[in-house]
Amino acid sequence: MSQHPAAPPRASKFQSFADTADPAQGPPRLAALRARLAAQGLDGFVVGRADEYQGEYVPAGAERLAWLTGFGGSAGTAVALGHAAALFVDGRYVEQAAAQVDTRAFERHNVAATTPEAWLAANAKAGGRIGYDPMLFTPGQRDRLRAAAQKAGASLVAAPDNPLDACWTDRPAPPAAPIWMHPAKFAGEGAASKIARVRKALGEADALLVSDPHGLAWLFNLRGGDVAHTPIALGRALLPKFGKPTLFMAREKLPAPVLRALGRVAHLAEPAELAEALARLGRDGRTLKLDAATAPAAFAEAVEAAGGKVDVGADPIAAMKARKNAAELAGARAAHLRDGAALCEFLAWFDAEAPKGRLTEIDAALALEGFRVAAGGLRDLSFPSISAFGPHAAIPHYRVTERSNLRIGRGVYLIDGGGQYEDGTTDVTRTVTVGKPTREMRDRFTRVLQGHVAVAAATFPAGTTGVQLDALARRPLWEAGLDFDHGTGHGVGSCLSVHEGPQSLSKRGAVAIEAGMVVSDEPGYYKPGAFGIRCENLLAAREAKPAGAERACLGFETLTLAPFDLRLLDASMLTRAELRWLDAYHARVRREVGPLLSKPARRWLAAATAPLSRRRRA
Ligand code: ZN
Ligand code: ZN
Repeated sequence: MSQHPAAPPRASKFQSFADTADPAQGPPRLAALRARLAAQGLDGFVVGRADEYQGEYVPAGAERLAWLTGFGGSAGTAVALGHAAALFVDGRYVEQAAAQVDTRAFERHNVAATTPEAWLAANAKAGGRIGYDPMLFTPGQRDRLRAAAQKAGASLVAAPDNPLDACWTDRPAPPAAPIWMHPAKFAGEGAASKIARVRKALGEADALLVSDPHGLAWLFNLRGGDVAHTPIALGRALLPKFGKPTLFMAREKLPAPVLRALGRVAHLAEPAELAEALARLGRDGRTLKLDAATAPAAFAEAVEAAGGKVDVGADPIAAMKARKNAAELAGARAAHLRDGAALCEFLAWFDAEAPKGRLTEIDAALALEGFRVAAGGLRDLSFPSISAFGPHAAIPHYRVTERSNLRIGRGVYLIDGGGQYEDGTTDVTRTVTVGKPTREMRDRFTRVLQGHVAVAAATFPAGTTGVQLDALARRPLWEAGLDFDHGTGHGVGSCLSVHEGPQSLSKRGAVAIEAGMVVSDEPGYYKPGAFGIRCENLLAAREAKPAGAERACLGFETLTLAPFDLRLLDASMLTRAELRWLDAYHARVRREVGPLLSKPARRWLAAATAPLSRRRRA
């Protein structure tokens, strides 16, 4: 980018700031659902937030939980019984649910205290028939609901004719965005080679159902636009041990060149044909491998009902997709260079504008989006930007709306966002100060950054898991009796989901980190009602050879390129090694991103990244 846009574009292409929740719609819709349940001989119904692909982002026509309750968060469950109804959300969403849901219709519960299963067990009537849509729950989720219903003396009943859908008369049609092929130069491996590798991982099973659209995108090198922020196409594939796989994808989404490319490696079928294919497997007495995280219970039941067996477990594709090859890593570096330039332009602009006191959280989010568009190759944001000032920064998953939009004054501002580029996916958080920070802010920022550096600079033996690395990021906070209530890092896809497994740097991080895996490194500190801090870069794991090493070791390459705000740093708290790491990182940002910047931003970057070692000696 060579131009410094004087006024970043105002209109967002990718993020909505509207808050469309209308609590008043809850009661009449609940009444309609209850009437429908009675007509279908049901005494209750369970409504999750997931669609039939268990996705993080779901199409408008799958927003059943929001339609029924008004709650628009990304996770939650509702249970409607004849005499009572309740919504269950996690800690992130307690406040949002309070604002969006009519409490006369729905009790509200934090799942940490009351799970939907516990509530169902306590509230369902003996002899009652509790319905669930078997396309919207995995076999594991179904089993937990069934056990809960049985505790109450009730029974769980599959309701393939979803009674909620019957009430939702203006339900949007399924999306049908055209699919495109992810170019070989970015994918680095052809579909035929990937199919052969997955086949070897089938074990005793006769076939694998690829039910996760992210796995489907990776396997066939296809990308789509059926949901926001993740370039996936909703569809599935059946991969037999021998012979061509079959891709079940609506034909209307397949332009001729894509049809030809996919036709070389797969049979193509309409999604409705999958049921018969599963029944056939069952009739032949075959064993079908199902992904525990995304396969609908309905499919397991279809195979079993026809006489076959299912093997429900980890999807072998997830681990293969997580280890990026050389082409994917090269793409990630290129995407991060452009994204880093956009972020530096933004930070330079913000530093000049914010002290004037006129910017709002939405202005800032729009500005960053504008700089990302100008950087080139942006297909979408990788998630809605978290643009948070002051007390809002203390809410880790804050999402600014027209109603919540704060004017940015003196204090701490946090921006967490990322882009979907055809060569890679980015996710970065910077926390910056407007005006002079307090001692407390500097102390907390320094500890968070020390935790970030501890992971980024770590060398560790092969086999080390995410839960072990998670502790490194927390140590500087633990030392002061502090902590944060989210994971340190998540996996990130290659022009795919910004939240990818199976690896995770968190309490649940049981998977060993392997070379090629991309993870975020994002410790934070949150003081409710006051301020919040998070420092996030993406890292790629790679082999490391410390001098005299007796074991195979790994370390990280930092992908993200943007300065940390040194005005928030208390350099006297840093060790010599931390200081050297930070100076070397900033020198790299100057060297690699500097040449891409406008003149004012380049000047800003030089000042923002002046070496600390020199400052301390001075
Ligand atoms: Zn982030
Ligand atoms: Zn992240």
